[in-house]
Amino acid sequence: MDLKHWLGRATEAVQEWADSFGPYQPHPSLHIDDDRFAAAFQEFTGRLGDNYPFFHPHYAGQMLKPPHPAAVVGYLTAMLINPNNHALDGGPATARMEREVVAQLAAMFGYDTHLGHLTTSGTIANLEALFVARELHPGRGVAYSADAHYTHGRMCHVLGLKGHPVPTDNHGRMRLDALEDLLRGGEVGTVVLTAGTTGLGAVDPVHHALALRERYGVRLHVDAAYGGFFTLLAGAEGPEGIPAEPWRAIAECDSLVIDPHKHGLQPYGCGAVLFRDPEVGRFYLHDSPYTYFTSSELHLGEISLECSRAGAAAAALWLTFQLLPPTPAGLGRVLAAGRRAALHWSDLITASDLLELYQRPEMDIVSYFPSTDPATLSAIDAESARALTNGMKSATPVFLSTLKAGREAFTARHPKITADTDGARVLRSVLMKPESEQYAEQLIARVEELVRSD
Ligand SMILES: *Cc1c(COP(=O)(O)O)cnc(C)c1O
Repeated sequence: MDLKHWLGRATEAVQEWADSFGPYQPHPSLHIDDDRFAAAFQEFTGRLGDNYPFFHPHYAGQMLKPPHPAAVVGYLTAMLINPNNHALDGGPATARMEREVVAQLAAMFGYDTHLGHLTTSGTIANLEALFVARELHPGRGVAYSADAHYTHGRMCHVLGLKGHPVPTDNHGRMRLDALEDLLRGGEVGTVVLTAGTTGLGAVDPVHHALALRERYGVRLHVDAAYGGFFTLLAGAEGPEGIPAEPWRAIAECDSLVIDPHKHGLQPYGCGAVLFRDPEVGRFYLHDSPYTYFTSSELHLGEISLECSRAGAAAAALWLTFQLLPPTPAGLGRVLAAGRRAALHWSDLITASDLLELYQRPEMDIVSYFPSTDPATLSAIDAESARALTNGMKSATPVFLSTLKAGREAFTARHPKITADTDGARVLRSVLMKPESEQYAEQLIARVEELVRSD
């Protein structure tokens, strides 16, 4: 699709709709001359040049990439109207689109019943899930893995709950024996399982955790903010397939969070929280004297902690899902390419004399480090940092990121490394663009050059 053409069509379509209400005079206070606008716009685009090229296959660093053109057109078109998905009175069409995309997400995870909505981010989505968990288990804390997203600890603090980090194993997954020791104490009411950690893409053993819910009467929440769409590859044939068990088990957990603004091709401002039991809607009960008036149908603001939310975010996701639905044959193909890229990267790194794999990727996040002599944490740390900066400074730049690995975590994976400091940075590449697959060999060759050069 030609973005320029469809952006033009977007403004025309909204103008046609606007014209149906008859002409009106815009107020002179809002008038801007084209010349003045041109000058401001030039400065503006100049300043935006100071960005890393997230779109480019040579950007293999953080979880960043531009949205799909369909999402851009969907967002922009709806934004010209600017509906607010708080209430049906604020945006009837986009509120219905939101309910449809949330139902698609629920179906993707196999939820047979659900209540849910979009949020502005994964952080807010997790906050809502933990808020509901607190209402159901007042006075009891929350357990999450030591590698869980840092906002779980922060949101526990906001909610006045005690957070309990649980140690991880050599793959970065929550250790269920340690969790069970903690649950025996009776202090924990909710367990957060991460399906795809932000650092390494590790998937906690959700399927084994189900038994603990029965035994200790805890709630299970799945944070799949990053990894959620990988459920489309669960049990798939071919190299991109990932073990199905933890993903199938999500259908039985109490709530889940997924970020369409990470792997759902959306611009920022699109997270989602889903509850399996629609009855939890009662915890959101409130009345608002000025918002709910045209309909007795559910207003999304009645089941959401946030008030105003962009209807455009729902529109963008809805339009994207019309074209690339959350199915193995739709969005699944995009994730499969990134998954194959990660496997290819791993094989190339394993075969390299200059690089070593930190751990094998479970998704599309590859962690690796330069081979050094002496093989010490301090040398690895320095060489990783050097590769990162030299990559960005180079005439043909390549963009990576680093991850701080603690001493215990490092030596558990690589017992032969001398632990002379408390940890080391390793290199980390999130291969979330399908193009990463075609560029694997070229990029690894570049990384090897960076490591080799003085
Ligand atoms: C990104 C992420 C979050 C936070 O989501 P935001 O949308 O950045 O607020 C939470 N959990 C996990 C596992 C994540 O990867």
